[in-house]
Amino acid sequence: MSKPPQLLVGNWKMHGDLSANAAFVAELTAEVSGLACRAALCVPAVYLAQMQVLLSGSRIDLGAQDLSAHEAGAYTGEVSAQMLRDFSVRYCIVGHSERRLFHAESDATVAVKAQRALAVGITPIVCVGESLAEREAGQTEAVVKRQLAAVIQANGHCISEIVVAYEPVWAIGTGLTASPEQAQEVHAVLRSQLKAASSHADRVSVLYGGSMTAHNAAELLAQPDVDGGLIGGASLKAQDFLSLLKAASR
Ligand code: PEP
Repeated sequence: MSKPPQLLVGNWKMHGDLSANAAFVAELTAEVSGLACRAALCVPAVYLAQMQVLLSGSRIDLGAQDLSAHEAGAYTGEVSAQMLRDFSVRYCIVGHSERRLFHAESDATVAVKAQRALAVGITPIVCVGESLAEREAGQTEAVVKRQLAAVIQANGHCISEIVVAYEPVWAIGTGLTASPEQAQEVHAVLRSQLKAASSHADRVSVLYGGSMTAHNAAELLAQPDVDGGLIGGASLKAQDFLSLLKAASR
């Protein structure tokens, strides 16, 4: 099966404001029409309504950064999968390392969040990745397999509907990037784990994330099991994100 177009997803984290978002989208959409890659922006929940309007009719899909593990109810401050769906959200990041670290999200919670997203037709972008200490202890493969196994176990045959993002924690926001060989090695492990779980695993895009920029994207994206990128810092300026989209469209 030939590879689908690369998927590049921006993760704005806790950045943005109403006027900057509008300027960003105007700059981006002026240039994206001819590009071959798929693209999405995961924005803070409060800007989903604004971004739904701004991105409507464009080639850029809308994404969220997190969702509740609960369906509905007395969970102050939480946003449900169905609420995201109301704003045409197509993707939702689950299990980003910052949520695992700062909000103590377990593998089991991440698996339930993926389930909630799939139940309403949102594609979860399931993040996995090892810390520097885990890499140095030779545990990279065991860690990412454990994280993905929880999601596979909870989601059964729906697993071919997810996106996976391999994000080595030591590479996020640090300027350190996994080498193309390091990324490919882990992506191949994840791919075979997905294939063992589903005969449709070829459909799953496995993204790389961790200080990806226009300078290192081409080599990373050229790896056989790298199907795109999850991009933090380099998605905050329209021209930086555009350069990445162009690199992914070659
Ligand atoms: C991320 O937060 O998902 C990420 C990859 O960030 P950065 O590109 O800034 O390393």
